[in-house]
Amino acid sequence: MLAMSKYETVIGLEIHAQLLTESKIFCGCSTKFGAKPNTNICPVCTGQPGVLPVLNKKVVLLAIKTAITLNCKVEPRSVFARKNYFYPDLPKDYQISQYELPLATGGYLEIEVEGNKKRIGITRIHLEEDAGKLVHQGAERIMGSEASLVDYNRTGVPLMEIVSEPDIRSPQEAKAFMETLQHLLQFIKVCDAKMEEGSLRCDANISLRPKGQAKFGTKTEVKNMNSFRGVQQALETEQKRQAELLDSGGKVIQETRYFDDQTKQTKSMRSKEEAHDYRYFPEPDLVPVEPSQEWIEEIRKTIGELPEHKKNKYEQDYGLPPADIEVLLSSPALAAFFEESLKLYDKPKVLANWLMGDISAYLNEHKKGIEELNFQPAKLVEMLQLIDKGTISGKIAKTVLVEVLDSGKSVQDVIKEKGLTQVSDAGELLKIIKEVIKSNPAQVEQYRSGKKAVIGFLVGQVMKASKGRANPKLANELLAKELGS
Ligand SMILES: [Zn+2]
Repeated sequence: MLAMSKYETVIGLEIHAQLLTESKIFCGCSTKFGAKPNTNICPVCTGQPGVLPVLNKKVVLLAIKTAITLNCKVEPRSVFARKNYFYPDLPKDYQISQYELPLATGGYLEIEVEGNKKRIGITRIHLEEDAGKLVHQGAERIMGSEASLVDYNRTGVPLMEIVSEPDIRSPQEAKAFMETLQHLLQFIKVCDAKMEEGSLRCDANISLRPKGQAKFGTKTEVKNMNSFRGVQQALETEQKRQAELLDSGGKVIQETRYFDDQTKQTKSMRSKEEAHDYRYFPEPDLVPVEPSQEWIEEIRKTIGELPEHKKNKYEQDYGLPPADIEVLLSSPALAAFFEESLKLYDKPKVLANWLMGDISAYLNEHKKGIEELNFQPAKLVEMLQLIDKGTISGKIAKTVLVEVLDSGKSVQDVIKEKGLTQVSDAGELLKIIKEVIKSNPAQVEQYRSGKKAVIGFLVGQVMKASKGRANPKLANELLAKELGS
């Protein structure tokens, strides 16, 4: 990467996010993923003559929510246009998209790379409909396939395009931008934002310029980046290709390049000369979008606290370390669960440990979100209070927890049914202790000759004999007394 030090990289991103609505943007068809091909279609989304589109209000609401979150100005008037092109996945031969007058403009997203915070400008957010999907037979792409079939289920699925300013200066920043955006879109519940499934997609414009030069270099557009890693890899590859080209006295050609995930190379798709003229004109069948100020304010109130604010609060008010905060904020439901629990149990670190440890492990294993379980903050808190009181040990609590999560039963019921109460009865414990002393004479001898640390081993034997139910603190005290220290 020696060649890179001469140049500064300039990257801008165009992101397509599928909005979480039940129905499509201009008709009542379902947006459900994975349905049989061409079952979620109707005359509107397949462009039959004489039909009229009707804008889905929820689509506008979700886009406004995003605009507010990304610090954009929601425009008082935005207009849909027809983007004309001919391709089999587009039954109308035009895509309805906002063009000259987008829904929102001029915001920013704050990213963090290696501890440095930076604001990346957002140029605009606009709405559009998705196209259909071509399914190629016998090959991955149209080239070399025997036949291509088209599935119109995706036609008319609502998309929100977010365009960033060319403020990104490295592939790493581009990846951070995508990750931060994903987190935010999921947090405000406007998009499930899964790059691998295509509900969040991104194209990038990338150019190089000599350090210190204000004028941008010639850019290329990179497509087909299907994961966060893919974004970084594709841009690193393209950055290197451009640097080598410039170093050898060559010129970058403005073109669209396709990232091949297998070879990790970018390949030319089409040059500027072949670029489409989309003959945009205003869509005559739709009225302009004119959201009232009252509605925008109403939407603003539903957003709640954003991850960035929560992060500061968790750090400063609750004293949690960054690793804990990252896990807790990884899902809005988990963050809400933590905050609800905290109202009932004022030990943030203890709560965070359980949520990050055993509970997250359980969720990962069962591929579930905490909101999908019959498990409420009150249950977790009840369990923690029983540990504090000494009714159950921390170790037994782990068993109790899994049983509670599996069965949805109450903590008390599980403890009673399984006989998991901690043994805090001195008489009962003493019986076990005497047994342990009898069967471990060597360790007892060591202890008595001054090697006090061996008591840990003996306590362990007591725990084992009691099947983890012995109160460890009491066991320790009684053992020490029995051994005559
Ligand atoms: Zn339809």
